[in-house]
Order: sequence, then structure tokens, then C-alpha cells
Amino acid sequence: MHSLQFTAEPSSTDTVERDSTVGDVPGLSSPAAGTDRAPLMFDVIIAGCGPTGAMLAAELRLHDVRVLVLEKETEPVSFVRIVGLHIRSIELMAMRGLLERILQHGRQRPAGGFFAAIPKPPPEGLDSAYAYLLGIPQPVIEHLLEEHAIELGAQVRRGCAVVGFAQDDEGVTVELADGEQLRSRYLVGCDGGRSTVRKLLGVGFPGEPSRTETLMGEMEVGVPQEEIAAKVTEIRETHQRFWLRPAGVGVYSVVVPAAGVSDRAEPPTLEDFKQQLRTIAGTDFGVHSPRWLSRFGDATRLAERYRIGRVLLAGDAAHIHPPTGGQGLNLGVQDAFNLGWKLAAQIRGWAPETLLDTYQAERHPVAEDVLDNTRAQMELSSTEPGPQAVRRLLTELMDFDEVNRYLIEKITAIGIRYDFGEGPDLLGRRLRDIDVKQGHLYGLLHRGRGLLLDRTERLTVGGWSDRVDYLADPTAVLDVPGVLLRPDGHVAWIGDDQQDLDDHLSRWFGKPAN
Ligand SMILES: Cc1cc2nc3c(=O)[nH]c(=O)nc-3n(C[C@H](O)[C@H](O)[C@H](O)COP(=O)(O)OP(=O)(O)OC[C@H]3O[C@@H](n4cnc5c(N)ncnc54)[C@H](O)[C@@H]3O)c2cc1C
Repeated sequence: MHSLQFTAEPSSTDTVERDSTVGDVPGLSSPAAGTDRAPLMFDVIIAGCGPTGAMLAAELRLHDVRVLVLEKETEPVSFVRIVGLHIRSIELMAMRGLLERILQHGRQRPAGGFFAAIPKPPPEGLDSAYAYLLGIPQPVIEHLLEEHAIELGAQVRRGCAVVGFAQDDEGVTVELADGEQLRSRYLVGCDGGRSTVRKLLGVGFPGEPSRTETLMGEMEVGVPQEEIAAKVTEIRETHQRFWLRPAGVGVYSVVVPAAGVSDRAEPPTLEDFKQQLRTIAGTDFGVHSPRWLSRFGDATRLAERYRIGRVLLAGDAAHIHPPTGGQGLNLGVQDAFNLGWKLAAQIRGWAPETLLDTYQAERHPVAEDVLDNTRAQMELSSTEPGPQAVRRLLTELMDFDEVNRYLIEKITAIGIRYDFGEGPDLLGRRLRDIDVKQGHLYGLLHRGRGLLLDRTERLTVGGWSDRVDYLADPTAVLDVPGVLLRPDGHVAWIGDDQQDLDDHLSRWFGKPAN
């Protein structure tokens, strides 16, 4: 078991100063802030230190943005749920130099078999240097991301719930549960599916309420492994929401439908699990000694807007969906990766006028797509004859390489192409990690800056060199003359014309310094 205890020490550069001059600001959740404004102690306050909040804090710190993360829980989460980091998230970790640390705590598995849990191997030659799934306990990935953010100088204050805020033309006044008020230039709600920030912001969260509840827990079993494996294989032919799989020495992760057992408002009990196991499998496998028990639903909702003025939403605060396919954490971390450098640019003063709005323009459609594919996966896990027939048909279709590849690229998020306008297919996509003369490409992106790869050796980043790195004659693997990468690794320009490049540098990186 990993130790998850640590203390968040403020960095020497970012000392929290309680401001005693802040007067009472009535009605903080209303837009009308008080006039007696406290100084802007922070550039960004992040509500919530889950994976999304921690990732965002780290991304902002790469650009020296003063960040405070407020987390309502006093201790890091201890709820051990194994999550899967999909290929794109693994790539992000590699792009920030975090992968080696994370790999020590995870287990690599084949990238295939995740769409509706249809057991197909991944297609050959997936377009990534990291073509696997990394199974890792969620508390561990949260701890590693928080540790990374703190190392970079972010402050994390635990036991601090955001209960209100008011924004004005200069910043946001954030109110904590104990009445303390803090001020920053921006506030980002990374406070999960029941987000206080989203509710106070009044942003609509349309979608479907939860209709199907599932029980999930970890416990010991009283029968041999082979007996369980045979039974599970037989039952999963028709019951996709049934699962028993090893989760450590003598411990099994158990998933069963919650239908018909116990009160929804009460935490599930071991007896609930036993009852469901007996109904479905005819035996409760002698389960005992639970480590933890939980229940989750399949509510599917998407925030109508990701930004109102100086307040933004990311992660589960902006979108919720059932865990089928294991995409939620991945989606949130990728939101943070998209938002971080843009919000930093806004704060550092070099952001082009519309840059911050590209966060919603790019990420809202991605979430829409994830919600839709989880809806489809949920249908495919129904035991009704119709969905079962569609599932059999899709299982056959996935024998076609292109179908299998399309679904895997979707679920792993390596198929994403942002709309940057007309251009070659690579424009708007992320570039895979490739070998370059200096080692590997992602190794050059650790600082979260743009990067120009120039095979012509005639191009220059000129007045943008404080924001964009330059690499001449990088590699023969690239079959284009020049490529401009954004800090998130997406291709912002392809070509060999300096004037055209300058226009695109302006579009993404603002005015040149001189
Ligand atoms: C059973 C199950 C299995 C899953 N498996 C996977 C998987 O395999 N892969 C995957 O990608 N995803 C998976 N998910 C989804 C994943 O767990 C979530 O999508 C992820 O935790 C979202 O991260 P987040 O940081 O946006 O929100 P959260 O993890 O919810 O973090 C929000 C944080 O904000 C804090 N907070 C809340 N309100 C306030 C407030 N007012 N002030 C301050 N702090 C506040 C909370 O305490 C919490 O720490 C699974 C989910 C479930 C239920």
C-alpha cells in the first residue's frame, strides 16, 4: 500500500498571506462583489484537488502563475479504485517528464478490449510510442499529480471548501466555508460532478439522470481462483455489469448491478454484494473482509458552458458519465492540459484575444463525443435481446481492423483532431512521440512551451522565442518541412513559408516580444 500522507508546504515564492483588510462582502454567490476589494493574492484559485485540479495547477506553475488549490477534504482520498490511464494521458505524462514515476506504480496492459468491454486485441501499429493501458489506483495517480504540482510551486490547502464567489472586472473573490475570503484573477472549478462552482455560476448541466446503479467494492473471497475465473467467463457472456477480478493478494474487485438491493441513500453493505452474487452466479464466492464498498450511477450530463468571465470549469465539474470504458479521469486531465497554457498565457499577458475561448471550443465537443460513446457502451451492456444482438454484430465488425482501430483511437483519445481550419490531416492532431536528434520529442516539451521543428533550417521563431522553442533538422521521421507544436503537443501549423509561420505564431502565441 502506498503512503498517501504528506503535508503541502507553501513554496518560498508563493507565501499565502491572509489579508486582514478584507471587509464583509455580502452575497458572495451573486455577481455583485463588494467594493472593498482585497489584493489579488493569486493569479488562479482552483477549487478541488482531484486529478483535474492537480494537473491544472502543475500546468499553470510551468509558467510561474501563482496558484492556490483549495480542497475541501482534509486528507487525500483513500478509496482504492483502479483506473486506467489511456494512451493520450500516458503521452501527457511523458510530455511533462512524469511517466517514469507513474510507471513504477501501475501495471501495463494491452490497449484493446475497452470499448464496451468487448474482448478484442488492439490493432497492430497504433500511432503512439505508448500503445498500452496503464492500470493504476486512483489515489496513487492523484497523489503523484498533487506532488508534481507542489514540487513546481503550487500551494494546496486542505480542509477548505469553496462555498461562494463573486467576480468583477479585475478578479474573483472566493469565499471558504469558514468565512475566509481570498482573491485571485481567475477561479477554476475542478470540484467534481456535484461542483459547487458550476452551480453557483448558474451554468446548465443538461443530460440524463442516473437510471442504473452499480455496486463496486474490494473484498476477499473464500473459493479458489480457478473456480471464480470459470464462473465469471460463463456469466459475462450475457452480464456485462458483473465482474470479479483479482485486485491484489487474496483480494478481488467485485462489480454487480445494484438493482433491487438496499436503499439508494444508504452506503452499500457486504450483504448487498452477497445477495447480488447469489442471484447472478448462484454463489456468493464466500466473499468477506471488504476493503471498501461503493455505488455509482450512470448519470450523463454536460455543462452548457465551460467559462463565464473569470470563472471556468474542468473535469467532472463540466461533464459526468458512467465509467464504462474508463474515460472520466482521462478526460479531466486532458481538459487541464488544454486549459493550463492558455490560462497562463492570459495571465502572463501574451494571449491572443480569443485564445482562452478556444478551451471550450476544443474541449466541449470532445466531452460530447465521450458522453455519446459511453451512452452507446451502456446500451451494449444491457441484457435485453436487442442490445445483445447489436453487441454480437459489433463484436463481428470489430474483426475489421479499421473498425477496431477507430474505436480504440476514440476511447484512448489519440484520434482527436481539433478544428484549426483547412489543412493537412495532421493539422489539429497531436504529434506522436518520435525520436529526434536530441533524444525524443516529448522530452523537449517538459517546460510546456511551443516548439518549432524545422527540417528546412531556414525558419525562425523570431520574437516568440520567449514562448516557443526551436529545433533545426530534428529528424528524418517527419515527412513535412516544418511543424509548429502548441504546448499541448497539437500541431498548430505545417509548412515552409516564414510569413505563414509568423501568422500562425501570432494566432497561438500572441504578439512577438520585439
Ligand atoms: C467506479 C468508477 C470507476 C472509474 N474508472 C475510471 C477509469 O478507469 N478511468 C477513468 O479515466 N476514469 C474513471 N472513473 C472516473 C474518475 O474517477 C473521475 O472522472 C475523476 O475522478 C474526475 O476527476 P476530477 O478531478 O475532475 O473530479 P474529482 O475526482 O471528483 O475531484 C474533485 C475534488 O474536488 C473536491 N471538492 C468538491 N467540492 C469542493 C469544494 N466546494 N471546494 C473545494 N474542493 C471541493 C473533492 O473533494 C475532490 O477532491 C471512474 C469512476 C468510477 C465511479
